[in-house]
Amino acid sequence: MKEKLDDNKVMAILTDVTKCTGCETCVAACKKTYDLPRDRMWRWQDEIDSLSASRYCTIIRKPGNVFIRQQCRHCNEPACASACIVGALEKQKNGPVTYDSRKCMGCRYCMMACPFGIPRYEWESTAPKIRKCILCYPRLQEGKQPACTEACPYGATIFGTRAEMLAEARRRIKENPGRYYPADNPVIYGEHEVGGTSVLYLSNISLDFMSWGPKLGNEPLPALTWAALSKVPPVVLGVAGLMTGVYWVIGRRMQLEAEQHTARAAESGAAAHPQDHDPHSEHQS
Ligand code: SF4
Ligand code: SF4
Ligand code: SF4
Repeated sequence: MKEKLDDNKVMAILTDVTKCTGCETCVAACKKTYDLPRDRMWRWQDEIDSLSASRYCTIIRKPGNVFIRQQCRHCNEPACASACIVGALEKQKNGPVTYDSRKCMGCRYCMMACPFGIPRYEWESTAPKIRKCILCYPRLQEGKQPACTEACPYGATIFGTRAEMLAEARRRIKENPGRYYPADNPVIYGEHEVGGTSVLYLSNISLDFMSWGPKLGNEPLPALTWAALSKVPPVVLGVAGLMTGVYWVIGRRMQLEAEQHTARAAESGAAAHPQDHDPHSEHQS
């Protein structure tokens, strides 16, 4: 039986869609923090989820100039972590779902398992990794808030304990009758969805389009993920066996590349990618 998370200790983001202007200051702050390159021009299109390996949060524009900030939800029981057979994705006790690229073998099960379609792959890299928002785990360990919530000039995306964020969402619903969706009984997205998440939303339109199906249930998905996979045992066993066989080869290749990268970085004085660390080591340094 899993230990139940304490909402007074778990940190969370509350994004209020009705306050967002689409200015993308949050996106810029995230990019600056993680030293991410500029985007391609094609991303400036309405209604396209433009998350990428170099864009951990983004803004989706819907008709009527409704701007919705998209990022990893940091699920209480993340399907991505459950699907990862080498433990590269991990739920931390204070909320973030972190990623350790050194453990990742590139199978991309996490991408298939995530009900919100969040993890992205470095398709153009010769040593590709998964990339996604990590809820600024290293900053949280230093007692700071995420770069994106700190940067938002309109208070559209804010940070606190999950209990505080839920209380703030309820206060806004109570003080603004008819403002949030659905008008008769507004929903706090992420309060119960897939067992609860550390990124919560209030919105004036339905956000069902941001997930797999028209409506996700409140059940955590990890168990369902494995129930679904186990219905195809030959595939699971075959892939798992194959993965075990190639894991050493991939691991060795990654190790060599990491050593070469470290050597090149040392020569040029450049820093390694901010996510290419063991999350457990970041707060010790
Ligand atoms: S939203 Fe997707 S990637 Fe993020 S924690 Fe949940 S399952 Fe994992
Ligand atoms: S929490 Fe951190 S990693 Fe996630 S979108 Fe905000 S700035 Fe980027
Ligand atoms: S900085 Fe705030 S207002 Fe601007 S796009 Fe991000 S969440 Fe919306």
